[in-house]
Amino acid sequence: MGGRAQTIEDLAPAVLNRAPAVAEMEVTHSWWGYYAVTPDNNAIIGTAPGIDRLHYATGFSGHGFQQGPVVGEHLAELVLGSEPTFDLSPFAMDRFETGAVLPETAVI
Ligand SMILES: Cc1cc2nc3c(=O)[nH]c(=O)nc-3n(C[C@H](O)[C@H](O)[C@H](O)COP(=O)(O)OP(=O)(O)OC[C@H]3O[C@@H](n4cnc5c(N)ncnc54)[C@H](O)[C@@H]3O)c2cc1C
Repeated sequence: MGGRAQTIEDLAPAVLNRAPAVAEMEVTHSWWGYYAVTPDNNAIIGTAPGIDRLHYATGFSGHGFQQGPVVGEHLAELVLGSEPTFDLSPFAMDRFETGAVLPETAVI
C-alpha cells in the first residue's frame, strides 16, 4: 500500500475503501523515501559542458526504475565515447536555461 499520505492513519481510509479486510491485519513494517524532483519532474541526463568527461544522470523524479535500463546504456556509451543509441539530449541540464523543458504531467 502506498500513496501521498505521510502517516498510516492518513492512508488508512483509502486502503480500507479498496480492501476492507486489511482492517483485520497487523502492520508489520513500513518504508518510505524521498523523490529527487526537478522543476519539470523529469531526469537530467547528459555531459557537463566545459568539464572533461563529467556525465550525469540524476533527478529522476519518481521514474528512475523504469528509465534505468536505457539511461544506464546511454551513460555507458557516453563513458566509452561511442555514438549514443538513443537521443537523450532533451534531458540535458541546459533545458532549464533555454526553456525547452519537458513537463511531466503524470506525476504520482
Ligand atoms: C518511494 C519511492 C517510490 C518510487 N517508485 C518508483 C516507481 O514506481 N517507478 C519508477 O520508475 N521509479 C520509482 N521511484 C524512483 C526510483 O527509485 C529512483 O528514480 C531511482 O532509484 C534513482 O536511481 P539512481 O541510481 O539515480 O539513485 P539512487 O537509487 O538514489 O542511488 C544513488 C546511490 O548513491 C549513493 N550515494 C549517495 N551519495 C553518495 C556519496 N557521496 N558517495 C557514495 N555513494 C553515494 C546512495 O547511497 C545510493 O545508493 C521511486 C522512488 C521512491 C523514493
